[in-house]
Amino acid sequence: MICRKCSGPGSLIIRKEYCYCNDCFITNINHKFRACIGKNKILSPNEKVLICLSGDASSTVLLDLIHVGLSLNNHKKLRVIPYFLHIIERDSEGEEISKVIVEQCKNYNFNITLVNIDEYFNKNILCNDNTMKNHYQPSISKNILLNIPTSISEDVLTKMKQNIFIKIAKQLKCRIVFTAETTTLLATRLLSNIAIGRGSQVENDIGFADKREENVKILRPMREITNEEIDHYLRIKELNPATDILGKGYGTSLQSVIRNFVLDLQENYPATVSTICKTADKIGSVTDNVNKKKCIICQSNLDCNQLNLTAVDATMFSRKVSSKVINSNENLKHIEEGNNLMFPFIYEKLCYCCSRNISQLNDPMLQTLVCRNDDK
Ligand SMILES: [Zn+2]
Ligand SMILES: [Zn+2]
Repeated sequence: MICRKCSGPGSLIIRKEYCYCNDCFITNINHKFRACIGKNKILSPNEKVLICLSGDASSTVLLDLIHVGLSLNNHKKLRVIPYFLHIIERDSEGEEISKVIVEQCKNYNFNITLVNIDEYFNKNILCNDNTMKNHYQPSISKNILLNIPTSISEDVLTKMKQNIFIKIAKQLKCRIVFTAETTTLLATRLLSNIAIGRGSQVENDIGFADKREENVKILRPMREITNEEIDHYLRIKELNPATDILGKGYGTSLQSVIRNFVLDLQENYPATVSTICKTADKIGSVTDNVNKKKCIICQSNLDCNQLNLTAVDATMFSRKVSSKVINSNENLKHIEEGNNLMFPFIYEKLCYCCSRNISQLNDPMLQTLVCRNDDK
């Protein structure tokens, strides 16, 4: 066991292959983080950055990496003005997690803004004095997320959070948002995306930068760090995450089945996971982003109906062959007109996947609420 950097005694092995001592390992992770930001050249000096912390293992490491970067006093100093944000999720567990995150930030001398997930339904989230405002009954998100299949609620939750990130970034005049997705998580998301019908959105959902929103870019500076490395980092620096939602066996959703598959891959074929992500980098969108009609929930382009065969066509086809409807053209006409019962607002306001998500909310009032993102 010899460290591959300093040739001193090694203490850990990454990907069953590379040996490091603790110091060189931590330096290497900091370097990966900075290199990822640096090579993409999106940040200008003293950029205001909204840093979104979920409290899980990777977000705990992100917080530490930011702190290390800001504390440096040489040319490597991280020149950003950080604003920290945590979104409190639906239940009492969410309250607990938020307390731990506030404590973590206090240890680093950072302030953090807490926002309830229900603020998704609120137009102006932050008041002038940065205190929270809540106009809606606190159970809206809970109702929505409990009454639909878990595969869909995971996706809805992700999109709701992303919308809140962007709204708050705009209010704080941040052009940049950091989120803490690791290679492992992004590989999972890539495979899930394809399975749930977000194949056309892979570039923005998995790449370094999500550029769907014109004035705010969501960056993923930890996308070259794996969960294995996160675990070592936490252990060496004795950091305790507030939550461990990435753990195996969590939930029964499609996403968690895929997550377990990716975690198994990582354990047994460690190189495969980063290969999955590199594949995503090669998938670019066919069209450019400018002046296109966009989905009001996920901001993806809505011009996919120009394609020859889409997931919607496939679903409509299987509906046709399994029902007694004789004139199928009638169905497809409704899709084009946008008032389709099976896929509400499809191509008019929503992409395929968001429309299918909405269709699962049986209460029309909830459907309207989720779609009220419209008026920005
Ligand atoms: Zn070393
Ligand atoms: Zn969408």
